[in-house]
Amino acid sequence: MNFYGLIKSTLIDYPNRVASVLFTKGCNLACPYCHNRELIDGTDIEPYAFEDILTHLRKRSHVLSGVVISGGEPLLYADELQPCIDEIHNMGYKVKLDTNGLLYERLIRMRHIDFIAMDIKTSIDKYHLVCPHFTDSVRQNIINSIDYIMQSGIDYEFRTTVVPEIVTMDDISRICGKIRGAKKYSLAQFRPKNTLDRSYEDVIPYGDSFFTQAKQIVEAAGIECELRVGY
Ligand code: SF4
Repeated sequence: MNFYGLIKSTLIDYPNRVASVLFTKGCNLACPYCHNRELIDGTDIEPYAFEDILTHLRKRSHVLSGVVISGGEPLLYADELQPCIDEIHNMGYKVKLDTNGLLYERLIRMRHIDFIAMDIKTSIDKYHLVCPHFTDSVRQNIINSIDYIMQSGIDYEFRTTVVPEIVTMDDISRICGKIRGAKKYSLAQFRPKNTLDRSYEDVIPYGDSFFTQAKQIVEAAGIECELRVGY
């Protein structure tokens, strides 16, 4: 399998680990604020062969302890991805999967995943803003993925990029109602740069006061809240 991006070493993508990040191409959502325009399309990116990634992981095993599989949406390639994950696991690495949770049936089949980070885009009734073909079955998959992750015994976090209008304070409250008692919910400030829909480059991100209030709402629901503001 090929990957379409590699961060060789990061301290911020896998909690408490120095990790490499591997990117798959393509996505089943079309968030207008997405920064991964090139990755979604994937045509102009030189792929990395998995063998080359293994060579890197072998060389850097004294420094790295985690591998993040990110996208796009990695579960679009669940069957091809699983043997890669097995191999990374067998090398002694912890594996984190980033997902948008739409492919519930594939998510629950994955093995050797040590951490799941699921993006919750907004409250469920507003998913049509990021998902062009939003149906009842997509809705149910998102709900099932949230429930599965919370009960799986696998370490996890939920996270939301807080884009004005797509995510309001009311949406934060609704999401917290759905994930009440979750371990961790991270809120990231939107960056108006290189967006899939260029008009989002004119959107002004929420400021500190929004995030302070949002954090209070999250914590009132019994959830640890991490703010990623000012990146
Ligand atoms: S932000 Fe994430 S889920 Fe949304 S289109 Fe981009 S890669 Fe897909």
